Amino acid sequence: MRKGKQYIFEVAQEVPYDITGIQIGYQVRKKLYEGKSAFQRVEVYNLMFFGRTLFLDGVLQTAEQDEFIYHEMLCQAPLFLHPSLGNVLIIGGGDGGALREVLKHRSVKKAVVVEIDGKVVKLSRKYLPFLSKNAFSDKRTKLVIEDGKKFIKKHKSEFDVIILDLSDPNGPSKDLISLPFYKNIKQALRSNGIVSVQSGSFITQPKLVSTISKRLQKVFSHVQVRKAVVPSYYAGEYIFTLASDYNFSKVTLGTLAKRYKASKMRLKYWSPEIHQASSVLPLYLKQELK
Ligand code: SAM
Repeated sequence: MRKGKQYIFEVAQEVPYDITGIQIGYQVRKKLYEGKSAFQRVEVYNLMFFGRTLFLDGVLQTAEQDEFIYHEMLCQAPLFLHPSLGNVLIIGGGDGGALREVLKHRSVKKAVVVEIDGKVVKLSRKYLPFLSKNAFSDKRTKLVIEDGKKFIKKHKSEFDVIILDLSDPNGPSKDLISLPFYKNIKQALRSNGIVSVQSGSFITQPKLVSTISKRLQKVFSHVQVRKAVVPSYYAGEYIFTLASDYNFSKVTLGTLAKRYKASKMRLKYWSPEIHQASSVLPLYLKQELK
């Protein structure tokens, strides 16, 4: 390590299913905030390479330099695949990045964000304003500070798309990959409803990825895994899982291209072609998910 340079080290997320023994160092330009909320340790750094970055319990959540890859992959696919958008729910996502992506769709009438930790919202708006870009002040937004596990039980057939933008299943999100939770998600979806799940890294968390996929397969008739490299997440290809009873895989590239063109959006990462390419998996990954 170069002398005199300060680093923050992250131990690769040792979720219940995968032990990695990997530690990653990020060189720090400036520490902007550190403190504890009722749920987790919260730190915000300006990193030499990745820019302003949020850490929760020592795990990198989202970074200025490449958050667009993660948020577009997680949100734009279900939003363009869905035949007629109306209400969208985001569980987690207190930094506002997913909400920003959802509100790009004019057909979205209501975007509900259910975040357990109000401090994450407050600190993200203060130190990482590029994430929400005032999305929290949009009149379509409803911010609910509550445990997503409790919230979801009170809502039936209400949402067209649900986005699970959750930290890895340790700490406050640990129960939000369970079968009962996914069954509650399904009940909260309207018909044709699609859920999009941040599913971790296939490189360092293969059992987590396959556990999520197999549980979703028990609840929904169509489950599709897609991948993208999110450089600040260090572990190569990250997995985003889509699930629905609606056969979204029959939406053609041509239809997606028409919808994308009509939206007049200019996204930086996601596109109909990227969507198609990101669902092409190597054999070893396909076998793991069976
Ligand atoms: N991009 C990140 C990733 O891939 O791990 C996720 C970022 S977002 C900041 C994760 C959010 O999930 C955090 O703000 C955390 O407080 C929230 N969260 C964790 N458990 C939750 C729960 N049970 N209900 C609602 N929000 C929760």
